[in-house]
Amino acid sequence: MSPESHDVLIVGGGPAGSATAIRLAAEGLDVALLDRSHFPRLKCCAEYGSPEAVRELDRLGVLPALDRHHTTRLTGTTVTAAAGSQLHGRFAEAGGTPFRTTGLAMPRRILDAELLAHAGRAGATIREGCRVQTLSRRPDGRMTVTVEEAGRTRTLTGRVVVGADGLRSRIARELGLRTRGRLARIAFVAHVEGVEGMVPSAEMHVGRPGYVGLNPIDARTTNVALVVPADAASGARGDAAGFLRRGLDQLPALRHRIDLRGLTEAVMVTGPFDVRCRRSTADGALLVGDAAEFFDPFTGEGILSALVGARLASATILEALAEHGPVGRHRLASYRHARQRAFRGKWLLERTIGHAMQWPALFDRTVARLERRGMASTLIGVTGGFVPHTRILNPFALIRMVA
Ligand SMILES: Cc1cc2nc3c(=O)[nH]c(=O)nc-3n(C[C@H](O)[C@H](O)[C@H](O)COP(=O)(O)OP(=O)(O)OC[C@H]3O[C@@H](n4cnc5c(N)ncnc54)[C@H](O)[C@@H]3O)c2cc1C
Repeated sequence: MSPESHDVLIVGGGPAGSATAIRLAAEGLDVALLDRSHFPRLKCCAEYGSPEAVRELDRLGVLPALDRHHTTRLTGTTVTAAAGSQLHGRFAEAGGTPFRTTGLAMPRRILDAELLAHAGRAGATIREGCRVQTLSRRPDGRMTVTVEEAGRTRTLTGRVVVGADGLRSRIARELGLRTRGRLARIAFVAHVEGVEGMVPSAEMHVGRPGYVGLNPIDARTTNVALVVPADAASGARGDAAGFLRRGLDQLPALRHRIDLRGLTEAVMVTGPFDVRCRRSTADGALLVGDAAEFFDPFTGEGILSALVGARLASATILEALAEHGPVGRHRLASYRHARQRAFRGKWLLERTIGHAMQWPALFDRTVARLERRGMASTLIGVTGGFVPHTRILNPFALIRMVA
């Protein structure tokens, strides 16, 4: 039997894969979107989106459907340092060109299912419960994947394969692009009802050894995310809820606000995040979203990066497939360059904040100064992707922050 054949095979139906599928199918390409899960599904994530993420969702045409779920319209983020300094960042006061003055809580059970359904409406063939196992390139340049689906093994081919299969990407591994990263951290994420003192704004609490994010996803429920170095998480084995409780107890500001009897489902655990890719392109294949690069959840916005990456990848694929013949790596190079331009500021900011967090006294002082000097909202706009990073990462601003 000859294998099922498409223009583009997209592996992974999270935000990166679905957004790529929406864009390519809308342009008339024959796209198959393959995911091992059945949707709706949960995903370990703090579920926070800035106004820029909202803009990308609007560009995809999925925002009206998301707005109908009435999840929280977030006004910004408050950051609390270990010694108690706070900054209050507000999207409305950040400057730049926000799409609207609020961000959006994006429960993944809702977001990912809406994006996937939208990809189907755009014309993509959706295959849930379809786990990709191998990837190879035929002598004629077509890409072949084998999948396990309903207990059977099948083969599909495409001119291009998009690896949108997340942090531990099978496609990146099959392409030989995976290597060790530096973020050896573990995350514990829970949905908890009845957290005290929540307003429609996210909170980040930095302590030792990790940090906790609170995101009010709707009127009752808060997403509680604890991120710690992997070596500090060894005591969590078999008791994720107990480990989360002990982590929260170490933060005086949170100890009495969160009662884990309000858990709506089991605590999710993911990590360590210590994988990265050497390149985002290969002959006949490219990587988007977490498969291409994982950003520290502290600066968040992995979903925004996945949606932006999908936009850049789609533009390159459309160009590459307009020509006949095999798609070599050189035809996909524009994607790699576009990523570098789009994410350079984000990399710099992530590294800067990551380093500052390792020095609690410096971090505390910086948080206090950002607040005092009226730069808190600018920072939230920069991490949110709608204020240029140069507004914070310039010598003048950096001296004002630490000197
Ligand atoms: C603790 C934590 C908190 C976070 N908080 C935020 C936040 O608040 N805001 C934010 O914007 N980002 C956040 N992120 C990052 C965000 O979750 C990711 O950046 C985002 O999910 C990336 O989307 P993606 O489509 O690349 O991958 P994913 O969402 O991981 O989707 C990958 C898909 O691929 C499928 N798949 C995997 N392997 C295979 C296979 N072999 N065959 C078929 N299918 C496969 C999976 O089932 C999955 O559906 C957080 C991440 C973590 C870990």
